Amino acid sequence: MAIVVLADLRGRGGMVNKDTVAGGYGSRFRADSVWTRIAKNARSVFLNVPSIHVGYLAAIFAREGHEVVVTHDDRAVEGDLALVLTSLVDYRHEREWAAAARARGMRVGFFGTPATHLPELFEGFGDFVLTGEPEAAALRLAAGEEMSGVVPSPAINDLDSLPFPRWDLVKMRRFGHASHRRVGLTRAVPMLTSRSCPEHCTYCPHRITASFRSRSVANVVAEMEELQRLYKNVHVKIRDPLFTLDRERCLAIAEGIRARGLKLSFECETRMDDLDEELIRSMHAAGLREIAFGVESPDPAVLKKVARRYIPHEHMRRMIDLCWRLGIVTTAFYIIGFLQETEEVIEETIRFACNLDTTHANFKILTPYPGTPQFKQLKPLVFETDWEKFDGYTLTFNHPNLTPRRARLMLGMAYSRFYGRPSRLFNFLGMHRYSRHPLLERADAWAWRKYDYFDRPWVSERKATA
Ligand code: SF4
Repeated sequence: MAIVVLADLRGRGGMVNKDTVAGGYGSRFRADSVWTRIAKNARSVFLNVPSIHVGYLAAIFAREGHEVVVTHDDRAVEGDLALVLTSLVDYRHEREWAAAARARGMRVGFFGTPATHLPELFEGFGDFVLTGEPEAAALRLAAGEEMSGVVPSPAINDLDSLPFPRWDLVKMRRFGHASHRRVGLTRAVPMLTSRSCPEHCTYCPHRITASFRSRSVANVVAEMEELQRLYKNVHVKIRDPLFTLDRERCLAIAEGIRARGLKLSFECETRMDDLDEELIRSMHAAGLREIAFGVESPDPAVLKKVARRYIPHEHMRRMIDLCWRLGIVTTAFYIIGFLQETEEVIEETIRFACNLDTTHANFKILTPYPGTPQFKQLKPLVFETDWEKFDGYTLTFNHPNLTPRRARLMLGMAYSRFYGRPSRLFNFLGMHRYSRHPLLERADAWAWRKYDYFDRPWVSERKATA
């Protein structure tokens, strides 16, 4: 029996998310104003879930009789073998930790998306780097194999063959989750019912490590049953990139939850065109309380350039309206800085986001992630040499119409326009039914005109010709 240390390090500087965020590259939100500092601190208290692959690796090593220690901080931990979850935004920290562990005599390996697509970043700081999904290699390590160099870890096709993640081996204070519809923290755990995505969006890092596979309905429901046995009123964060791809499977999962009377809530990420009223109602009856989905840009021409299939806006509006009626929180993702975009076009995206009126909106700056087709396309334009700046909030390439500073200003404007609307306050207070009231629409329009954030030439031109 060996002592196996799994290092899922808390990121340094800002709010760092790893594991399944940005396909495993992670994101770092740096607070640079009072409001962003408040948002950062609130997020770190209320939105804490452990890393899914750490849960899986803990289960694999524990099943083989090894002692598993999960660590999140820089304190020295003793063991025989350490596996470090990598991110792009905090890779220096992870390398430092690995080098120190190695100096104490441990064998050290790296895993995760950056280890897979940029193994050279980690070679020399540990004994081996796993490329691919880590479970297949973890099974070999658990059986006693010694590894060195770059070690391919092929994707496991039969996901039902994996043990359920062992959250009891992960420190409990990482399990926080709160929704604005509920007061207090709920225990939240992540879950993968499928992996990867069969779509072809060129900027997306979720689909580049392995092909799409899904677990059986029985296996998914059995894991939920196990979670309910361990934790009261658990909230399950389904981290599949495209949960509702197979409609019948989702209906069957919802039916399975209801049939077993499981008392849990869950959330998922998906594409809006893979949702319809019957499916949403069925999942809601089973405990669905949050849906996140990509909009990216409202412009079909921009989406076509990045091979993203367009979703009719009318359909999105109908689904979002239904979610408001059922009390399901919606989060829409937007990307700023597609090559064709000007600042004026970006402002239209922000206007669209306000008008679409989801509960939350998440704006990021286009980031070319290694391994994506977009990275190949933009490589000649990439000027940023510090990988930690590929954090989702920084412009890293020479954009034809944007400078890094202007991109950051547009990003700030997106958040303050979306969250600073008077109607958003009504939404927050549970009075969304008034959000299309003419008086509130006038108040929103007034607020839009009132906040003039920075010089925007197209606005001055419009004023001059009015
Ligand atoms: S649909 Fe979503 S997860 Fe799938 S490739 Fe496109 S952006 Fe990625």
